[in-house]
Amino acid sequence: MSAPKRSILTMNAFELADGKPDGLLARRLANVGAASVLFYREPIEMVSAKGAWMHAADGTSYLDFYNNVPSVGHCHPRVVAAVSEQLGVLNINTRYLNERTERYLDALKAKLPERLSNVVLTCSGSEANDLALRIAAKVTGDTGVIVTENAYHGNTAAVTAISPSALIGADPPANVATVAPPGRAAYGEDIAGGFRDAIERAAADLEAAGHGLAALVCDSIFSSDGVFADPSGFLHGAVEAVRARGGLYVADEVQPGFARTGSGFWGFEHHGVCPDMVTMGKPMGNGYPMAGLAAAPAHLGAFCADVGYFNTFGGSPVAAAAGQAVLDVIEEEGLQPNAERVGAYLFERLLSLAEGSGTVAEVRREGLFMGIELCRDGDLARPDPELASATIDGLRRRRVLIGAAGRFGNVLKVRPPLCLTLEEADFFADALGAELAVR
Ligand code: PMP
Repeated sequence: MSAPKRSILTMNAFELADGKPDGLLARRLANVGAASVLFYREPIEMVSAKGAWMHAADGTSYLDFYNNVPSVGHCHPRVVAAVSEQLGVLNINTRYLNERTERYLDALKAKLPERLSNVVLTCSGSEANDLALRIAAKVTGDTGVIVTENAYHGNTAAVTAISPSALIGADPPANVATVAPPGRAAYGEDIAGGFRDAIERAAADLEAAGHGLAALVCDSIFSSDGVFADPSGFLHGAVEAVRARGGLYVADEVQPGFARTGSGFWGFEHHGVCPDMVTMGKPMGNGYPMAGLAAAPAHLGAFCADVGYFNTFGGSPVAAAAGQAVLDVIEEEGLQPNAERVGAYLFERLLSLAEGSGTVAEVRREGLFMGIELCRDGDLARPDPELASATIDGLRRRRVLIGAAGRFGNVLKVRPPLCLTLEEADFFADALGAELAVR
């Protein structure tokens, strides 16, 4: 491969070298310092948002194709009302009983496999994955973890260690084995078999090095790796191989969960496997910070026998109100079928753009989650991150916000709100077509 590995946080980000900052940008950099990560060389000041659109201080409106947090639509009135109302009634931690939280957990569990009947609510996906790692280590007695080579699972010390995409110039620790993402570039036409074999080898290596195998942790749509969904069921063999060696399978649903994949409510459904644990977050509260972990009572019980688990803000009645409103809106507005319908339409348009473009090597999709892989001469072996970067900047000028993914940063990550209309899908496809035509 010709291109160097890219950190997920540096893609199309503001760089101080780009000029002398003033105004709000200067204040932001002074306040947040080196941890200030901003999109675009010229950052955008946002003031409001509605549906799939975000409105900037200079009066420009942008179509949001990046942001899968406000998944049922920015500032959805149902979520806003539910949160506002509950904030004025009661907002406490979970060491008291509250009917609202139990009602929400019952509704959430109705969406999950029956055997994962315990749900722990947290504030971030990172916390949920951190807890999953601790449970897996306790249940298996091992510390080895397998992830994909450009995975992202969060920002605590433990989950940064299993997030190669976040590590700048460093490798994961010795107890973390990485495998190439499940695509044709790595495994040719037998993606399922190749991926399973890679997992087998990684597990054997971890065992040989004395770490054993605690878990395979996979984002079910492999978003930061560049979005990989097909062929459906390809995870099955890999999960069987993990279980045969005593490891657990953790489905990280922070990205694909909550109806985005259209055919299912969760990404793992596409693979016909039942995870040992499911972690979730991002779209769960449509912007209200909430996340969670679902596990079998025996697994959670084993962990809690040692240390217990408590989260001050996780599972508050306000979180429950936000989460319930999200579930209700998904159902009542038919957002899961909409993700499939608009996703299928957009996919067709993107396939037409790809044909003869000379630069689109693959378009991959599940529901309203797509990856558009840009390569020189459309050759998967020659990723073109410069083109991806220029396209992202060009799309911004055409009023569309989108990000990149993949080890080399050459995959456009398509992830609009689930309420996207056909007209909005056209707006994006027209802008992308125009952009690719000038490059
Ligand atoms: N897992 C995945 C797959 C993610 O994409 C993210 C966030 N980008 C996380 C976990 C971490 O979630 P949070 O930022 O809420 O901690």
